[in-house]
Amino acid sequence: TDFGYERVRLDEKQGRVNEVFRSVAKRYDVMNDLMSAGLHRVWKSALISTLRPSRTRRFRHLDVAGGTGDIAFRSLQAGGPETEVTVLDINDAMLGVGRERAGRRYGERIAFVAGNAESLPLPSGVYDAYTIAFGIRNVPRIELALAEAHRVLAPGGRFLCLEFSHVDVPGLDRIYDAYSFNVIPRIGEMVAGDRDSYQYLVESIRRFPRPGAFARMIEEAGFSRVTHRPLSGGICAIHSGWKV
Ligand code: SAM
Repeated sequence: TDFGYERVRLDEKQGRVNEVFRSVAKRYDVMNDLMSAGLHRVWKSALISTLRPSRTRRFRHLDVAGGTGDIAFRSLQAGGPETEVTVLDINDAMLGVGRERAGRRYGERIAFVAGNAESLPLPSGVYDAYTIAFGIRNVPRIELALAEAHRVLAPGGRFLCLEFSHVDVPGLDRIYDAYSFNVIPRIGEMVAGDRDSYQYLVESIRRFPRPGAFARMIEEAGFSRVTHRPLSGGICAIHSGWKV
């Protein structure tokens, strides 16, 4: 059936994504710095300033596709002693690097959980915040991930997504295209020995919905007051929504 074919295609996509991150896990952090010229740090800080984890109350933060823990560590630093972060990722290799980076610094305030964004192995209605940074683009069924985000958030909880977006500044768009199609796969080849994976990542950015369309998908998942804000001329965007 068509449905069966669709399943195979989506499983293939997830399999490909898993291969990419398994092969790159150990070099992931240095690759990020190289490819974004350090800008990913600025974008991640922008996400945390928008999130503003509570410094005084209990704050339960779920970071999906959390990889090596960048968002989690920033949230724990910005939040108070009662900020707790669960890092969920489908890839053991990425989680392993995250666990190692965390060491014992944060004790019980950080947990690493293996799981799929499309069907979170987590209870409903408990989290104050759900974040996903550079992750949703890799998830085959985005609608399922958004529905799961809505399910696990507590009423009043916030959804925040940081993702590559579409550059709309004349001039910058041409530079950005040249950079992503020529330079990124080349760095991928030189540093990770893997040109194809990085080519794939560049293409997945092109295919990702435009900001308005993605905002509508977030609304369709049940979120209210959905907004989006471009970063660095639209290289990235932060989408926000609330569960009421
Ligand atoms: N959030 C981290 C950051 O900003 O540095 C990591 C982003 S990395 C580009 C994408 C992550 O998404 C990878 O760690 C990958 O394993 C994870 N991922 C891909 N598909 C997933 C899925 N279906 N469910 C959960 N995580 C997934």
